[in-house]
Amino acid sequence: MKMIYFFDEGDGKNKKLLGGKGAGLCEMTRIGLPVPPGFTITTDVCKAYYQNGKTVPKSLWIEVKKNIIKLEKKTGKKWNSGSDPLLVSVRSGAAISMPGMMDTILNLGLNDITVEALTKKTGNPRFALDSYRRFVQLFGKVVFGVEDKKFDHVLEEAKKNQGARVDSDLNEQSLRKVVLQYKKICQDHTGKPFPTHPDEQLQLAVRAVFNSWMGERAMVYREKNHITKDIADGTAVNVVTMAFGNMGNDSATGVVFTRNPGDGTNRIFGEYLVNAQGEDVVAGVRTPKPVDEMQKEMPKSYQLLLNTCKKLERHYKEPQDIEFTIEQGKFYLLQTRSAKMNAAGMIKTSVDMVKEKLVTKDRALLRLQPDQLEQLLHKTIDYEQAKQFKKVVKGIAASPGAASGIAVFDVKRAVVMAENGAKVILIREETKPEDVPAFFASVGILTSRGGKTSHAAVVARGMGKPCIVGCAELKINQDAKQATAGNTTIHEGDAITIDGSQGDAYVGQVPTIEPQITNDFKTILDWAQKEKKIGIRANADTPDGADLARKYGAHGIGLCRTERMFNAADRLGLFVKLIMAKSLEERKQHLQKLQELQKSDFIQILKVMQGYKVTIRLLDPPLHEFLPNPEELINKIHRLEKQGSLQELEESKIILARAKELAEVNPMMGHRGVRVGITYPEIYEMQIRAVFEAAAELVKQKIKAYPQIMIPQVSSITELNHIKSIYDRVKAEVESKQGMKIKINFGTMLEVVRGCLTSNELASTAEFFSFGTNDLTQGVYSFSREDAEGKFLPEYIEKEILERNPFQTLDTTGVGSLIKIAVANGRAVKPSLEIGICGEHGGDPNSIKFFHNAGVSYVSASPHRIPIAIVAAAQAKLLEKHAKSKRR
Ligand code: PEP
Ligand code: MG
Repeated sequence: MKMIYFFDEGDGKNKKLLGGKGAGLCEMTRIGLPVPPGFTITTDVCKAYYQNGKTVPKSLWIEVKKNIIKLEKKTGKKWNSGSDPLLVSVRSGAAISMPGMMDTILNLGLNDITVEALTKKTGNPRFALDSYRRFVQLFGKVVFGVEDKKFDHVLEEAKKNQGARVDSDLNEQSLRKVVLQYKKICQDHTGKPFPTHPDEQLQLAVRAVFNSWMGERAMVYREKNHITKDIADGTAVNVVTMAFGNMGNDSATGVVFTRNPGDGTNRIFGEYLVNAQGEDVVAGVRTPKPVDEMQKEMPKSYQLLLNTCKKLERHYKEPQDIEFTIEQGKFYLLQTRSAKMNAAGMIKTSVDMVKEKLVTKDRALLRLQPDQLEQLLHKTIDYEQAKQFKKVVKGIAASPGAASGIAVFDVKRAVVMAENGAKVILIREETKPEDVPAFFASVGILTSRGGKTSHAAVVARGMGKPCIVGCAELKINQDAKQATAGNTTIHEGDAITIDGSQGDAYVGQVPTIEPQITNDFKTILDWAQKEKKIGIRANADTPDGADLARKYGAHGIGLCRTERMFNAADRLGLFVKLIMAKSLEERKQHLQKLQELQKSDFIQILKVMQGYKVTIRLLDPPLHEFLPNPEELINKIHRLEKQGSLQELEESKIILARAKELAEVNPMMGHRGVRVGITYPEIYEMQIRAVFEAAAELVKQKIKAYPQIMIPQVSSITELNHIKSIYDRVKAEVESKQGMKIKINFGTMLEVVRGCLTSNELASTAEFFSFGTNDLTQGVYSFSREDAEGKFLPEYIEKEILERNPFQTLDTTGVGSLIKIAVANGRAVKPSLEIGICGEHGGDPNSIKFFHNAGVSYVSASPHRIPIAIVAAAQAKLLEKHAKSKRR
């Protein structure tokens, strides 16, 4: 095993072996940039260290010594020299950057002899002693685990004794004393004198860096950021000749982005400090200056910096984030890595770099993180101003965007107050379908229970309204119309702001920033539209949702959930009457009115989406979901029994009786979807008729409408054929009434395991399939989504039983296998069968890559995720294209 690579030997692409920092230093050396000479001890050595019970391989120190000799030759300096000492920094660096998580030691090689040599060489005793005291402190902290405050205390005392204001005012004499005291602190801590020979110092430092890989900080960071062993396993150690930014006013240190990471502007952006070492910036001892000022202060170095930035970008084809040091006018690069930017910055740099011919369109699209684009599609909090407001709780960020409004705890009041012009934030423990009218009325939703796929989260995302769920700290008292978290109580009518992108709720009205679809963003979407193969449709059930989706580039609606239409404030009462009706006759009267309403809804949506298909799904939830919760009804009855109207009491009792009759032990697998359609055929008949009538109307208006009818929860061909016969009859009736032929595709959802396994049979009747991956995931795992997210999923993820939440990102091995089988069997019967995805996964970039490869025709996502889905679909296609060209 080759354990060490000198910077001119290492493969600059091999981050796994050399770590990101090591690979960067090797690559920069290779392309002739000014990097101080050094070498990298590989991550393999770190792994061996742990495999052998924390002992380094036998010959490591011999190899290290050989490389130190190489360094001596390169620099002309000598290790442990009394005249011109070689000093090094020892820096950690894993395959993935873990900022501040592991350790670095500067100025290694200093001792009582070399420090005098440094003094003589530079003629600057203050500089030499200051470097020495920094070294002892860092070494003591990193290698021995001495607390910083012990050193800080000594430094403060020294300043006081000398009457010095800041660290840099300390004179030679004071610094000598500080060094002595620092060494004593270390000796007291370890019981041994402070190590003097640079060999011993280096060996201890390398071990300490290896140990920091398993330090608590680093382990927690890896866990939180899902950095698994296949991404980064062990840290490398970089030993780099010291370049001093603190050698006088012709020396400096700084950090620079080659382009502005906030907005992508093509201009270097960063800060520097004259006569300073890196940790002065980090520690906030002195305030750095904007890099633009360097143009005046150190014009030559500034020009070098600019040239270097250009060269790095040309080489890496990606904006960089660099660290540099200028030692007495000589410019050195200490690190480079791809710059982390916000979404606006990524978009602008992608477009600019194509214009500059720095990258191809393919690369410009592939470098984007589709999920990050969400930042640009919603109102956001003005985070600067938000600092002045009190955060009241943190919950799960369930639906992005920000909204301010007044707190309201009751569904009916929310509707009334919104009608009176108030901006309402609905606060509930959890929500149910019967609460949906208040969703329409509110600008944002906050719940104390539930996870990312709870009812509140799913509905809010569908509507594009900000939502926070799972605010466990918030104790809601529905009756008192107030909620408390810590020592803050929110009453009905109080102003609050929710940030659904971060999961924070604030007291007061925090200013917000409007979303911005810039021309650059449009350019990216245009490139992606042209590149992608699969179609992108929207999950939308309102004309506004459809309109937004179309503006964002959706080509059709993949799922229009008709039950959401029954939930609107003016429909719910009617639907409840339908459920409560005692006879078929009575039911039909209510259905007639509902049919008119649905027909007009369909007409509006089909008009917005003219030219594209609109898939209308017939009623899916169980009927009891439209009735109030029995517990709430019982409380209401108790209240009415004490005082209230007799009529209301009687009505409530009747509703309770019906709610109890309809109650189910397991509604997820109960009387819902096609099962309701078969047992209450008049409901599906009404919906089918409304679609045909709407289509006929639009034919007359010469509008190109392409509705499709989709049946949910189908498990067998007999169920599907049963509904098909209703469809056929209604079709014939409407066609004869209207005197025209009306073409409306009839298809099925695939969201029940048996339906997927018999997709060849279903394909004989169905004209299209659409996978409901939400229910399918529940079915394949036998997990109820709400219970899983509320009770055990977080622990499953923490304990790595599951890598990620399968309700957010498709489980490709389990659910994905079933999808592949169902696609193959369906297409075996109808080769050109249209197959879509309409579960939440349709808007998830990772899942979209799988769907592309599985050969589906389109994915359907909520309107606000359309641009994300378009970019993800383009990336899927590009990855496939590039993999193919590699194989060739
Ligand atoms: C699904 O199950 O994936 C689906 C789209 O239906 P719903 O979420 O409405 O149950
Ligand atoms: Mg479903």
